[in-house]
Amino acid sequence: MRAYTGSCHCGAVSFSFKHKEISEGLRCNCSICIRKGALMTSFVLAANEITINVQNDSLATYEFSSGIAKHHFCRHCGIYTFHQTLRKPGHYRMNIGCIEGIDPFSLRTEVFDGAAL
Ligand SMILES: [Zn+2]
Repeated sequence: MRAYTGSCHCGAVSFSFKHKEISEGLRCNCSICIRKGALMTSFVLAANEITINVQNDSLATYEFSSGIAKHHFCRHCGIYTFHQTLRKPGHYRMNIGCIEGIDPFSLRTEVFDGAAL
């Protein structure tokens, strides 16, 4: 297990979690992911596996359609940090670009066909 830390661009939203070495990422072609273009973790984390630090009310949430997925972002810098998944409510995928010490462009990438849902 390795300790990972990450944050939005301005630092108002930060997080940490433990996981085995991150060697791949996930992209999705659903209507929101294709606009964000972020590389996400291919694994999900339960809420109690993530430590989240938010300054004041910096964490905003966007929902659409079923409202099951919760797309979180920093209300100051606008960066998507993590989201509660549609496929496994109560669990989160993290924005790999927010995580310290990982080059998202070097990872093997899987594409999920979210547009087909
Ligand atoms: Zn921010």
